[in-house]
Amino acid sequence: MQRSYDIAIIGLGPAGALFATHLDKGFKTIALDKKIPQANDGFQKPCGGLLAPDAQRALSRFNMTLPKEILVDPQIFAVRTIDLKSNLTRHYQRHYINLDRHKFDMWLVGKIPQHVEVDSGATCTDIARENGGFRIIYTSDGACKTIWARRIVGADGANSIVRRALFADFKIHSYLAIQQWFANFHDTPFYSCIFDPDITDSYAWGLTKDSHFIFGGAFPVKTGKQGFETLKQKLAPRGFHLDNPVKTEACLALRPFGPRNYCYGGKDAFLIGEAAGFISPSSLEGISYAIDSGYLLSQCFNARGDDPYWPYRRGTRKIRLKLLSKYFKRPFIYQPLARKMVMKSGLAAISIID
Ligand SMILES: Cc1cc2nc3c(=O)[nH]c(=O)nc-3n(C[C@H](O)[C@H](O)[C@H](O)COP(=O)(O)OP(=O)(O)OC[C@H]3O[C@@H](n4cnc5c(N)ncnc54)[C@H](O)[C@@H]3O)c2cc1C
Repeated sequence: MQRSYDIAIIGLGPAGALFATHLDKGFKTIALDKKIPQANDGFQKPCGGLLAPDAQRALSRFNMTLPKEILVDPQIFAVRTIDLKSNLTRHYQRHYINLDRHKFDMWLVGKIPQHVEVDSGATCTDIARENGGFRIIYTSDGACKTIWARRIVGADGANSIVRRALFADFKIHSYLAIQQWFANFHDTPFYSCIFDPDITDSYAWGLTKDSHFIFGGAFPVKTGKQGFETLKQKLAPRGFHLDNPVKTEACLALRPFGPRNYCYGGKDAFLIGEAAGFISPSSLEGISYAIDSGYLLSQCFNARGDDPYWPYRRGTRKIRLKLLSKYFKRPFIYQPLARKMVMKSGLAAISIID
């Protein structure tokens, strides 16, 4: 017999986990996620794993404190910013927390109360509207399963199957994010941001994480692979050791251009986190918006009005305003001449004493 639910959540990253954790007990809820808790070889979200001040603030609202098992070595206070076009390097203070992204996600999933049925290692493959709700097909434990839910929440990230299946006309500009892991051969741990407008109008990053060094970036989808390799070659003379990767990850990262680039859902389907387009267009920081939008939607459901859509859409105003402020910041980071002037001026830069 096909199982039925009030709510099906697809994806348990920060957005889905916060939504599931704060949803009222009265809803019969299932949450599906393709990640496998302990497996190193299963799917893991490719991410820099830096918890920005906005995300720290979002967690602090729930009085949540991070256990040390989630942190990685070392904690870094300055970002070495390299502009390959103007050949300038500057250091800027940053307040990120360097963490293991997979462990962070699983820690959040661990907080979901038992009345939510969690199916980990479950990949959703098809969604269709049926009988006033949604028929959802997914694979789990090698079997293909079908469930029905009255409402569906897409918390499944940039390449959301919920968005693609139910809102196919909606397009958000995206990058191809590629990240590789290397055994760390650098003498001193560091965090670096790299700009090269000849390769991408976004940026690349390098970061020490325990015994590894990760190097990644966001690139135009069509030229991403080539751009990534070219950038690695360009960085070799600058002391980056980027040979023999032990792991390569790739996924989409969204780049919303403005208010019309957010997809909230509609007609009993809802989108939260990056699936909705909530990600900073300047830094690609997305964890804080995932947390905020996931919690917001849970409160709209808990209010038990006729349709949580409008309260949710209205409630995202704060998130959208914050994203707008990041949008205005973008030219100073990504416009080559403006960036060169800011870097040359030394404004807000720190001098490193060897
Ligand atoms: C390379 C890279 C580096 C980044 N670095 C940072 C950073 O350092 N700091 C930061 O704040 N942000 C960073 N971001 C952005 C950030 O990772 C995302 O914006 C954030 O994770 C969004 O959270 P979310 O819960 O909306 O979606 P996600 O974290 O993407 O979670 C989506 C979940 O859905 C699951 N899922 C997807 N499809 C299916 C399916 N079909 N069936 C079942 N489950 C599914 C996935 O397993 C995943 O758990 C980075 C992004 C990229 C691409």
